[in-house]
Amino acid sequence: MTFDDQEYLNRYPFIDKVLISSEEIQLRVRQLGNEISNDYKDSVPILVCILKGAYPFLADLTRCLSVDHEVDFMAVSSYDGGTQSTGVVKIEKDLKSNITNRDVILVEDIIDTGLTIDNLIDLLKTRNPRSIRVAAVVDKKIARKKDVPLHYIGFEIPNEFVIGYGLDYDEKYRNLPFIGIMKA
Ligand code: 5GP
Repeated sequence: MTFDDQEYLNRYPFIDKVLISSEEIQLRVRQLGNEISNDYKDSVPILVCILKGAYPFLADLTRCLSVDHEVDFMAVSSYDGGTQSTGVVKIEKDLKSNITNRDVILVEDIIDTGLTIDNLIDLLKTRNPRSIRVAAVVDKKIARKKDVPLHYIGFEIPNEFVIGYGLDYDEKYRNLPFIGIMKA
């Protein structure tokens, strides 16, 4: 844990603990950046940031890439007012890019049930990309309802509600540099 992480813990007493420190995140993002750079040597992939939660990951990840790439943004909702993912994806903001014949990397914050990403992949496949892969900061594998192929995963985590590094609670705390668990 860094001094900054500790500062945030002091400021926000409702955070129970740091699950993944900012140092661990930065190290792992660098590793993922190297992996992606190796895998896309002969291509210019489009990294699609799924808003809002993936914005810190996209910003850090792209600065670790040594291959040319483009970025685009998409916002989808799958909760329909409730707390459970329905898996029915509604596009709130669509891509500007034409992804036909392009290599697409979907950049996500967390894969939980997997329903959102699975539906999003199905939807984007209708636009005939050359390939679609998924990069996510954390994987709550144990909560999975749909088996989705994930290519670049930062960390596997237990079935806990987490905040920080893009992940919100009531739209707040996305700015935390670490991933933490709130007090029950
Ligand atoms: P799912 O994979 O269940 O369809 O949904 C993934 C989405 O649910 C994520 O993009 C995120 O917005 C939200 N989500 C799932 N688990 C958590 C969590 O532990 N913390 C936060 N803040 N959001 C979560």
